[in-house]
Amino acid sequence: MKKELRKAVIAGNWKMNKNPEEAKQLLSEIAPLVKDAGCEVIACVPYIDLYAALEATKGTNVKIGAENCYWEKSGAFTGEVSAKMLADIGVPYVIIGHSERRTYFGDTDATVQKRVRGALDEGLTVILCVGEYLEQRELGITAEIVSMQTKIALQGVSEEELKRLIIAYEPVWAIGTGKTATADQAQEVCKLIRDVVAGLYTKEAADALTIQYGGSMNAKNAQELLSKEDVDGGLIGGASLKAPDFAAIVEAATKG
Ligand code: PEP
Repeated sequence: MKKELRKAVIAGNWKMNKNPEEAKQLLSEIAPLVKDAGCEVIACVPYIDLYAALEATKGTNVKIGAENCYWEKSGAFTGEVSAKMLADIGVPYVIIGHSERRTYFGDTDATVQKRVRGALDEGLTVILCVGEYLEQRELGITAEIVSMQTKIALQGVSEEELKRLIIAYEPVWAIGTGKTATADQAQEVCKLIRDVVAGLYTKEAADALTIQYGGSMNAKNAQELLSKEDVDGGLIGGASLKAPDFAAIVEAATKG
């Protein structure tokens, strides 16, 4: 399948920023700027903002996502929010396995797999993050790390369910650092992920999969990254908090 036939997806990851009032304000700035987008536009926001964000984006083409979820439906899991709770309030997307969750909050490949399973079971669409640390890149084991993360997270995911999954390649050394991977580095790993998925499923399934790049993508570098054959969109941290910058990335994805 050609890149043009795949769904391009630009998703913001707001991380731990914005209260509900600020979220409404930012979304009211973003929505008119992206109303003619030729790609899918998602804002993944803190749990506390979800209601306000869903309300603020009604009738627009901006979709809302959460930044994490727990696999059990309910119970004694203080501080967690389940995939079911997200689905119950109408949240369609969720980021799982972001490197900040893996680095600061103890997420492992095994818990990422359980979160993916839980989210898919509730009908959510998952943005699964994979990516290597700088030391791993320098050791020359990026392919091994990213393949392993992908294979473990996709354990038990059917080819049908794969249609509700997006993979975001996010080299950890490029997140929030201003150090973007080159377009060739992004392409190389996104292609590798597609090959891993082809090996697990079929070439058709892999060809249809949306694979994003994430890591200091901004209004200036988006066009070059997004022009690569296997880079179908972006997961955007810092630049998603500024409406004009986020809209410029959406514009770049619309052009392809
Ligand atoms: C992210 O948080 O997923 C991310 C890519 O952040 P940034 O764009 O700020 O590097």
